[in-house]
Amino acid sequence: MTGVRDVTRKLFWEDAYIREFSAIVEEIVDNRLVLDRTAFNPKGGGLPGDTGSLNGIRVSETLKRADTIEHVVDDISSFSKGMEVNGLLDWDRRYRVMRMHTAAHALSAVFNREAGALITGNKIDPAESRIDFSLESLDRDRMNEYIAIVNREILRNPDVRSYFMPRDEAMKIPSMVKLAGTAPPDVEQFRIVEIEGLDVQADGGVHVRSLGELREVVPLRFENKGKANRRIYFTLKD
Ligand SMILES: [Zn+2]
Repeated sequence: MTGVRDVTRKLFWEDAYIREFSAIVEEIVDNRLVLDRTAFNPKGGGLPGDTGSLNGIRVSETLKRADTIEHVVDDISSFSKGMEVNGLLDWDRRYRVMRMHTAAHALSAVFNREAGALITGNKIDPAESRIDFSLESLDRDRMNEYIAIVNREILRNPDVRSYFMPRDEAMKIPSMVKLAGTAPPDVEQFRIVEIEGLDVQADGGVHVRSLGELREVVPLRFENKGKANRRIYFTLKD
C-alpha cells in the first residue's frame, strides 16, 4: 500500500448522457466494486445513487468513498480484480434524476433571487422531489408565482453547462453557494453548473444539457417545516 488512494474517473462529469461504458475492476470490497472509471453517479447531497448493471449483474446502489466510487452488486462471485466489465445504467431513472436535479437548481435560483431564500435541505427522487427553503412566511400565491417564473425559464430553454473554476474566482460570484449553513468545500477547483442567464452554482452532480428538457415543473404541495422553513414537493411533466 502506498497510502495514495486511486481516483475513479467520473465519466458522468465528462458527459452526463453516457449510459453504457466499459471499465476495469480495481478493487473488490465485500459486495462492492471499485472501477477505474464509471458513468454511475454516487449517492450524496440529497441525490440517489445510480442503479443498473455490470456484466449483467444488478447494481442496486452507487456510493462515494473518499475519491473512489463503489458499485453495490447483487452477486460479487463472477468478478475479479483486473477484469474488464461492461456497465449499463437504468437510463430512464437516471434521466429523471438529472431533470429533477436541474429543476431543483432552477427553483433555488428563482426563490433566492425573488425572496432571498436559502436552501436548507433537499431530496431528489425520480418520481417526486422536495426542497426546503428558509422563508419566514408561506404564501402559496407567491410560491406558485415563483414556480411560474421557473416554467417561463424552461420555455426560454437556456443551455446548462458545467466547467471547472479556481476556488478564489468562484467565491467572488455572489449567488455561488445557496446552501444555508454550508461552508464551501475546501478544494482548489470548483465544479460549476451554470444555467445560462439564471444560475451559477458549485455542484458535483449530473444535469441535463438544456433547461427545456424539464418540460414543466409541477408543484405537488407546500408544507411548513419549523419556524422559518418551507418545504415544496414537486414533480416534472413527462
Ligand atoms: Zn445540485
